[in-house]
Amino acid sequence: MTAIVPIQQGTLSLAAMHLRGGGLVAMPTETVYGLACNAANPDAVVRLYEAKGRPRFNPLIAHVASMEIAEQEAVFSDQAREIAAKFWPGPLTMVLPVAPTGTVSDIARAGLDTIALRMPAHPGALAMLRTFGKPLVAPSANRSGHVSPTTAQHVKADLDGKVDLILDGGPCERGIESTIVSFIGERPVLLRAGALETSILNEALGGTLVVRGEDDGISAPGQLKSHYAPNAHLRPNADAPEPGEGWLGFGSSPIPGTNLSEAGDLREAAKNLFAALRTLDAGFDRIAVAHIPNEGLGEAINDRLARAAHRD
Ligand code: AMP
Ligand code: MG
Repeated sequence: MTAIVPIQQGTLSLAAMHLRGGGLVAMPTETVYGLACNAANPDAVVRLYEAKGRPRFNPLIAHVASMEIAEQEAVFSDQAREIAAKFWPGPLTMVLPVAPTGTVSDIARAGLDTIALRMPAHPGALAMLRTFGKPLVAPSANRSGHVSPTTAQHVKADLDGKVDLILDGGPCERGIESTIVSFIGERPVLLRAGALETSILNEALGGTLVVRGEDDGISAPGQLKSHYAPNAHLRPNADAPEPGEGWLGFGSSPIPGTNLSEAGDLREAAKNLFAALRTLDAGFDRIAVAHIPNEGLGEAINDRLARAAHRD
C-alpha cells in the first residue's frame, strides 16, 4: 500500500529522502501527475521504467526548478532561451542538445544526445524540485499506455505498491500533457500537441514552428498510435451514443452522460478529459465521444482521443 499525503514541508522532506535513496515519488504538476525519481541515478530510473511498464526506448522529461539548473543540463540557443523565458514555468517541454555539464543519466535519455526539459508551474512540483535540489525525471504516473492521472487517487489506482509515496496537490489544473517542441534542427519542430496551444507557441516563434505529419516516425511516444488508452473501446466524433455505449459529451446537450464541459469551454474539457475517461471506463465496455472542435486546446484533446481509440 502506498500512502497518499498532502504536500507540506514535512511530506516534502520525506519525499526528498525517498528520492535521495533512489525511490519513486508521485507528484502533481499543472499538466498531469508525474512519477518522479532522481534523474541522475540510473538504478532509480530503471525502477521507474519498470513500475510504469514503459519501454526503455522511450526517453523521459527532466524537470527543473530554475534556469540555472536548466542551463547546466542543456545547451540553449538564444531562441530557446527566449521561449523558456516566455513560457516557463509552464506546460512546455523543450528538446535541446545535452550540455557537457549535464547530470541526467543516459538511460533516462534513452541514450540520446538530446534532452527534454521542463520547468513545471505547479507550486507543489516546484517545491518538490527545490527541496530535492536537482533534476527529477517525471513521466506521467500511470501504467504505460494507460490513461494519464489527474488526481492522487488515479495514481494509486494504477501504481499502488510500486511507488514509495504519493504527494496530493488536488486535481491538475491543465489536465493534459505538456506541449513538446524540439530545438535540435534548423527550425523548431512540434513533437507533441499539448497544454500550451500550438498557435500561441508558433506565434512566439515568429511563425517558424514545423508541425509534422503522421508518417514522420516516432520521436515522442505521445506519437505512438495507441496511447492514453482506457480498457473500453472508444468511438470519437459521435453524434449520439448507440445502445450499450457510455456517452462523453461536450457543450450543452440533452443526452445524459458525462460532460467534458457544459459551457463548451476547451480548457475545462482538457482539465476533465482523463478523469472522465476513467469514470466511464469503470462502467462501460464502449464509450462514444461527442465532436470536439479541432481548434486551440481541441487539437491536443482530439490527439489524445484518437490515440485512446486506436487498437494495435
Ligand atoms: P511523458 O513523460 O510520458 O509525457 O513523455 C515524455 C515525452 O518526451 C515522450 O514523448 C518522449 O519521447 C519525449 N522525449 C523525451 N526526451 C526526448 C528527446 N531527447 N527527444 C525527443 N523526445 C523526447
Ligand atoms: Mg504518459
